[in-house]
Amino acid sequence: MFSKRLKELKPYIPGEQPGDANYIKLNTNENPFGPSPRVKDILNTFDPENLRLYPDPLFKNLRSKLADKYGLLPNQVFAGNGSDEVLSFVFFAFFDTLNGNLIFPEHTYSFYPVYCDFYGISYQKIPLKSDFSIDINSFLKTHEIAGLIFPNPNAPTGILMPLKEVEDLIQRFPKDRLVVIDEAYIDFGGQSAVPLIDKYNNLLVIKTFSKSMSLAGIRLGYALGNEKLIAALFAVKDSFNSYPIDTLTLKIAEAAVSDMGYYDKINKKIIQNRKKLTLDLEQKGWNVLPSSANFIFTRKEGLSGSHVYKKFKEKGILVRHFNHDGIKDFVRITIGTDEMMESFMSVLKTEF
Ligand code: PMP
Repeated sequence: MFSKRLKELKPYIPGEQPGDANYIKLNTNENPFGPSPRVKDILNTFDPENLRLYPDPLFKNLRSKLADKYGLLPNQVFAGNGSDEVLSFVFFAFFDTLNGNLIFPEHTYSFYPVYCDFYGISYQKIPLKSDFSIDINSFLKTHEIAGLIFPNPNAPTGILMPLKEVEDLIQRFPKDRLVVIDEAYIDFGGQSAVPLIDKYNNLLVIKTFSKSMSLAGIRLGYALGNEKLIAALFAVKDSFNSYPIDTLTLKIAEAAVSDMGYYDKINKKIIQNRKKLTLDLEQKGWNVLPSSANFIFTRKEGLSGSHVYKKFKEKGILVRHFNHDGIKDFVRITIGTDEMMESFMSVLKTEF
C-alpha cells in the first residue's frame, strides 16, 4: 500500500504544541501579544453565508493590500497556506538538480533539507563563521549552484545579515540563479530586502503572518518578487491546490495589514524584552548570540542544551533544543511578555 516515495520521506519535526495552557510556550516563536483588535472585529461580524462559496483563487484583495504596503504591484505578490507552503512551492519551481546544488547555511531552518529530499533536490550546507554568522564569501565560492536560500535574520541563531551585505551577495551571485531570502523574523529590528526586488529579477523574499503579525493560527505566508517568479508560483499552486487560503483567513489578514501601527507597537515591546532578557542572561554567565529576531539562541558553559530543555520543561516552560552537531549546547528561547520572561528568569536562577 505504501509508496517508495513515502518510505523515503524524512519529515520535519515541528515544535511541541501541547495544547496545555499551563505551559509557558517559548519554543515556536509565536508572538506573545494577540493580533490586531481589527481581527477580532472581523471574527465578530463575519457572515457564515460567505463560506458557501470557494475563496478567490488569486487572493486579489490581499495581494493588492500587500503590494501597497511594500510599494510593489499585485503581480509581484504570491501567497499560500503558511510560508512553509510558499517555500515548498519555491523549492519545486526553481531548484533543479540538473543545475547543481541548492546552497544554504549549515545551521538554518531545518525544513529546507526536508523539502530538498521531498523534491529530490541536491543541496550543500555552507559552514557558518566561528561567531555563527553567515559567510557570504563561502556562499560565493561554491561551484555548480542551483540557487541559494537563507533566513534573514537566520534561524535558529537570530543573527542578521545587514542589507548592504545582502545586496553585495546578490550582486555577486549568478544572475540566472535564484536568491531566496526568508524574512520570517525581519520585523524584529532588521532591514528588509524588499526594496531590492525591482533591481534584481532573481530575488525572491518570503514573509509570514505567523510571527510579527501574531497570526500563526491562520497559516498565511507570502512571496514578493519579479512577476515572472510570481507567475511560476501560481503555476505550482494551481497544479496542487487552487484554494490554499480560505475566505476567513483572507479577511483576517486584510484587517491585520490595515493596522500596522498596532503591530509596530507590540513588536517594539518584543525588541525591548529581547534586550532585557539578553542582559539578564549575560549577567548570569550565559552566552547569547546577537539576535535581531523574536528569539535568542543561548548556552552556558558546562551545560548541555538537552539538559536545559528538560529542566525548563519540568518547571512548565517549553524552550526549543536542536539535537544537531555544532549547536547541541544551545537552546532557543522565544521572547515573551514581561511576566513570561520573569518566570523564565526565576526558573533559570534557581535551576542553573
Ligand atoms: N521560515 C522560518 C525561518 C521559520 O522559522 C518558520 C517558522 N517555523 C517558517 C519559515 C514558517 O512559518 P509559517 O509556515 O508559519 O509561515
